[in-house]
Amino acid sequence: MKDTKLFVVMPCYNEEEVLGETSKRMRELFMTMEADGLISPDSKIVMVDDGSRDKTWSIISGLCDSDSIYRGVKLAHNAGHQKALLAGLMTVKDECDCAVSIDADLQDDINVIPEMVKKFDEGCDVVYGVRSKRETDTFFKRFTAEGFYKFFRVMGAEVVYNHADYRLMSSRALNALGEYKEANLFLRGIVPTIGYKSDCVYYERAERFAGESKYPLKKMLSFAFDGITSFSVKPIKIVWTVGLLVCVAAIIAAIYTIISKCLGYSTDGWASLMCSIWFLGGVQLVSVGVIGEYIGKIYKETKARPRYIIEEYRKK
Ligand code: UDP
Ligand code: MG
Repeated sequence: MKDTKLFVVMPCYNEEEVLGETSKRMRELFMTMEADGLISPDSKIVMVDDGSRDKTWSIISGLCDSDSIYRGVKLAHNAGHQKALLAGLMTVKDECDCAVSIDADLQDDINVIPEMVKKFDEGCDVVYGVRSKRETDTFFKRFTAEGFYKFFRVMGAEVVYNHADYRLMSSRALNALGEYKEANLFLRGIVPTIGYKSDCVYYERAERFAGESKYPLKKMLSFAFDGITSFSVKPIKIVWTVGLLVCVAAIIAAIYTIISKCLGYSTDGWASLMCSIWFLGGVQLVSVGVIGEYIGKIYKETKARPRYIIEEYRKK
């Protein structure tokens, strides 16, 4: 019998329609995994109420009263999915051996959790749940989501393609995550930077069985924008590059203007105006880029991220 203490953490925002079914399905899975000797009987299902306005918290409280397998964490206000998830994970990190984060609507297939736990037993600290297909998502959601992962890569941040926040993390990976003090949280960008041994499990994403998405387009766009601006200083570098290109163009424009002037093709004042416009434009962009570089440095400093994470310390 293994004694892996598994905690599943689910952020819930106005999820009264799904919680009954979700908790039941999750409990059944826990029973099977326990019977298979995969997890310890002390494993828990933790629901984080992210300041819901419906009956979510009373349902969670009821579940906790009825069975000690359930736990509830109530946030004082709606902090948003990422922060709610972090709150849950940080609350349980010292009690569990590993924690799986999953959305309350069970769109992500819970039947791969045993596979995640097996990989954890084999020594993985992080196991990513990756969507192999997105057939149940609308074309629009699929297109925007997949485009987002690609764009993110181009912008120079490391993300696992088609992986949302469905993942297993060991207690030491969670402790490392706790060292990231940034306020703009983008967990799927942070976790790969932790390092440690990781692996993936694949599943098909299902449709929400009840309730509606809490991520309308507006929230999704701001999430994507937040993700990019909290992970990449590439936009600043782009300003730099454009500035340099404009400077080169300014030299070409100056040569052209001077030749035109000498050949007498220009009216008075045109040559000096042309040269100054191009030149000043270039200088301004480069200056903004230089200032941007410093701001980029300040931005990295203020995040106060851990500078390294030790994987092993052998004395013998
Ligand atoms: N969620 C949350 N706080 C929020 C918005 C969403 O805790 O402000 C939770 C929500 O209850 C769900 C998960 O985040 O468990 C993902 O939300 P949803 O399923 O609506 O997103 P989608 O799957 O449509 O991207
Ligand atoms: Mg969902």
